[in-house]
Amino acid sequence: MSELRLREDLNAIPGYTPGKAAPQAETTGPVFKVSSNENPYPPLPSVTAAIADRLAHINRYPETAATALTAVLCERFGVEPVNVVLGSGSVEVVSQLMRATAGEGDEILFAWRSFEAYPMLARAAGAVPVMVPLTDDHRHDLDAMRAAITDRTRLILVCNPNNPTGTTIGDAELDRFLAQVPPHIVVVIDEAYVQFNDRDDSPVGIEYFRRYPNVAVAHTFSKAYGLAGMRIGYAIAPEQLGVALRKVAIPFGVTDLAQTAAIASLAAEDELEARVAELVVERERVVAAFTTAGLALPESKGNFVWLPLCDATAAAAELLERHGLLVRPFPGEGLRATVAEPEANERLIALAPEIAALVAPAEAVLASR
Ligand SMILES: *Cc1c(COP(=O)(O)O)cnc(C)c1O
Repeated sequence: MSELRLREDLNAIPGYTPGKAAPQAETTGPVFKVSSNENPYPPLPSVTAAIADRLAHINRYPETAATALTAVLCERFGVEPVNVVLGSGSVEVVSQLMRATAGEGDEILFAWRSFEAYPMLARAAGAVPVMVPLTDDHRHDLDAMRAAITDRTRLILVCNPNNPTGTTIGDAELDRFLAQVPPHIVVVIDEAYVQFNDRDDSPVGIEYFRRYPNVAVAHTFSKAYGLAGMRIGYAIAPEQLGVALRKVAIPFGVTDLAQTAAIASLAAEDELEARVAELVVERERVVAAFTTAGLALPESKGNFVWLPLCDATAAAAELLERHGLLVRPFPGEGLRATVAEPEANERLIALAPEIAALVAPAEAVLASR
């Protein structure tokens, strides 16, 4: 068998492992996939109707400039079309940002643990991911991130709220950080969960875009808007960057149906916001249950919770799976569970004492040393 000559640096990227398809649930009733932070609500009828209307046009390529959607976003954010760059999900937007700023050997700086796609996309861009550990309370360590800036740093990602820990940064600390970042380095605020973030002093990414000429914001329709399957997201970026992002974008990467669904979703925002509000209430119910059970969770401002279970992570994930909840475990660290339909949240809440008990013995051992 002949060896194919592929890029050697790709060996540093772990292959994608898809989530388990068939769980061995010992439970009766439905199995809930709470591993991908999807919105549990079905698409709005107005959105599916708009998509259905456009189905007759799928023999045509989508309009690359996405004129109609771009106009809606420009109006909303008070920006120009050049500032709006769409992607096949904001994951593609993040990839564009990396490929437009960093070449071989350049550094892309972000917190860790954060969004799993960051290191993979950075390596795929040929860049070097520089991962700055979160603080002990699972938050971005902005001082350490600033200290990690080098001559090779081209891009800094700030994920707020952070996936998978749900933690946030405040206005004052972000401002202090940005004031110290050299202005030639692009800083992206990834606001995939911004609609779920009810922190009082939360920075608003778009305001930082207005104030700092090196700041861009990444938004997605996958989470609060419930369009994960449509694959659409966007960046609001300074003009010079916007022009560059278009050069590295996948041609025709955003379908007409996705553009249509996004416009219809923006038009139905009140309905979607009501859903977000319900998920936020559910999130607080889950957090409260774990607190009562004796496991303190970091304050989550996303549509998910982070259980910092350390060595008990795998056991907890197994326990949850047996009860029909497929979560996202990071062995040795913790697990992320999406706040989903009430029935799924109810199951998680019911298991809170058992999960908390998995951690308690380990703590007792540590304390006795
Ligand atoms: C889900 C997510 C995204 C975007 O996902 P897409 O479906 O590609 O739009 C981006 N950033 C973070 C941190 C996310 O969790």
